[in-house]
Amino acid sequence: RMFFEPVTTPCGHTFCKECLERCLDHRPNCPLCKQSLREYLKAGKYSPTVLLQDIMLATFPAQLAERRELHRAEMAELSNLTRNIPIFVCTMSFPGIACPLHVFEPRYRLMIRRCQETGTRRFGMCIYENGKSFADYGCMLEIRQIELLADGRSLVDTIGRRRFRVLSRGHRDGYHTADIEYLEDRKVAGEELQELQCLHESTYRLAQRFCEHGDLTSRHILMQHGPLPEKEEDIQASADGPTWCWWLISILPLDPSYQLNLFSCTSLRARLTQLQRILTALLQQPP
Ligand SMILES: [Zn+2]
Ligand SMILES: [Zn+2]
Repeated sequence: RMFFEPVTTPCGHTFCKECLERCLDHRPNCPLCKQSLREYLKAGKYSPTVLLQDIMLATFPAQLAERRELHRAEMAELSNLTRNIPIFVCTMSFPGIACPLHVFEPRYRLMIRRCQETGTRRFGMCIYENGKSFADYGCMLEIRQIELLADGRSLVDTIGRRRFRVLSRGHRDGYHTADIEYLEDRKVAGEELQELQCLHESTYRLAQRFCEHGDLTSRHILMQHGPLPEKEEDIQASADGPTWCWWLISILPLDPSYQLNLFSCTSLRARLTQLQRILTALLQQPP
């Protein structure tokens, strides 16, 4: 392959920007002369080697155009949000709920950088599951902010978007990928909707009681996750249902496998019924 977007390091060596970044994911040294590139990495700015680019353009215009087209096709493929989406295997995350991540593994650095480059700023989050590398359900996360640390690690602030079901699993450059379909709560109408609204009201009141109960929700939880979100006008407006349910599921002392169970359920009514049961049990516990 031809040089693509060449950059030159302070030690005078020239690489494709992407190839250099991928080497630096593993260790902060020049891949050729091994000189430390910590300062260079910290600055986070790679200046293009314009002269080389000009020479390549003048000498191999056709090959360069081909290389650009290849890059464009790769970016398009990486931007697909249902096929071969990147999967970060780490923690339970939920629609509308913040999920801060500490990214240090080279494969995940690459994944996050690609999400930025393609502009999707999204990737899937799944928990590990024995025997199948990751669970059958996950949540799309959207990157809100990235804080790059001097050694190349980063603190990535994300928020949960839609839930999905895994249709098939794959790999790309060391990280997992999946073909997915998005989940959607079944909508109800008429009498059923009225019942659902009643159930929603009473469960929300229980949630409020639970949150006011100082022993159960420690200050620690409220500091980390914020207060119980407000009710939403139309409880069926979102494909994932009201955010406050996810907030509650994320703070309740539940097993990840049980959380996943609630997560994959596409009936708001069933989710609320389960929450009522859990909240009632917790509120009845002797102090
Ligand atoms: Zn290269
Ligand atoms: Zn060097």
